[in-house]
Amino acid sequence: MSKVYDVLIIGGGPAGLTAGIYAGRAKMSTLILEGEKLGGQMSTTDEVENYPGALGDSTGPNLVDKMAEQYKNFGGETLMEEVVSYDFDSKIKTVKTTKNEYQAKSIIVASGAKPRKLGAVGEDEYTGKGVSFCATCDAAFFEDLEVYVMGGGDTAVEEALFIAKFARKVTIVHRRDELRAAKSIQEKAFNNPKIDFIWDSVLTKVEGDGIVEKITLQNKKTGEETVIQADENDGTFGVFIMVGYLPQTEIFKGTLEMDESGYILGDVNMKTNKEGVFVAGDCRQKPLRQIVTATSDGAIASISAEKYIESAFE
Ligand code: NAP
Repeated sequence: MSKVYDVLIIGGGPAGLTAGIYAGRAKMSTLILEGEKLGGQMSTTDEVENYPGALGDSTGPNLVDKMAEQYKNFGGETLMEEVVSYDFDSKIKTVKTTKNEYQAKSIIVASGAKPRKLGAVGEDEYTGKGVSFCATCDAAFFEDLEVYVMGGGDTAVEEALFIAKFARKVTIVHRRDELRAAKSIQEKAFNNPKIDFIWDSVLTKVEGDGIVEKITLQNKKTGEETVIQADENDGTFGVFIMVGYLPQTEIFKGTLEMDESGYILGDVNMKTNKEGVFVAGDCRQKPLRQIVTATSDGAIASISAEKYIESAFE
């Protein structure tokens, strides 16, 4: 019979890695399955200002490396494999990936969330050709160019500040006339001479000849359309879409209870409706999605899994 892990964690972001650190430290055999990139959204965050103790050179990738190393030091295993199906009904749970099949006594779902798309014409076609969802990854490509950032939340405004370190000018395009971002972040943007705002507007179209050259914005109040063309000397500009996130929980629909937006329901102990299955991080329904709340969820989920194993496998 193949190895039965104590804990199998789906997702290697801060929630999954923390769950792994706690599980490893409790001497539970642990496997993290990660389909894309360890660190999740944290790996594409430039400056981590509000994670306690994160000072100076605390970038997202930096923190990911430290968490992953800490997890490995406690004996945790990681495989870069995408989960395609599972059986959470049996006492020993099974998880299938594109490559293999794994068994575990308990599961922690920490599958995170991914950037929401706007649905604008050309959004997909020009992704990687001027349209981006990740400032840390792509801001440097827009050195001394103009950039338009869609969204008014913490991510959009913080990343606009980051992009302004490279770009000649950054314009935040928001669908209302008031930002959602925290006041402290707003203040920094309002005081940055490189940052400008277009209010009450949304991106409807992206066009160009293989690279972004033109976008169309629509004013939500008047319906009026404005076409923005690249500066003749630049030939192009950047479009960063930062309008929130969607939970990566599609695969668990019909098995794990969720709210109407697809966030998995977990109680204070991170228990889901399925015995032996726990949830942690951004894929969970909760009021605040931050690295600090993801790590907190991960720690609780791991302790809950440990208690569950003790009682269910006596
Ligand atoms: P968010 O808070 O959900 O904000 C999304 C923004 O996009 C909002 O301004 C929203 O407009 C806009 N938007 C959504 N759908 C849109 C659409 N279809 N068309 C046009 N605009 C649209 O998402 P977020 O900024 O990515 O932040 C996610 C979570 O992470 C939040 O809890 C945030 O506090 C947290 N976060 C925290 C920090 C930090 O504390 N340093 C940094 C980054 C993220 P409306 O305002 O009109 O709804």
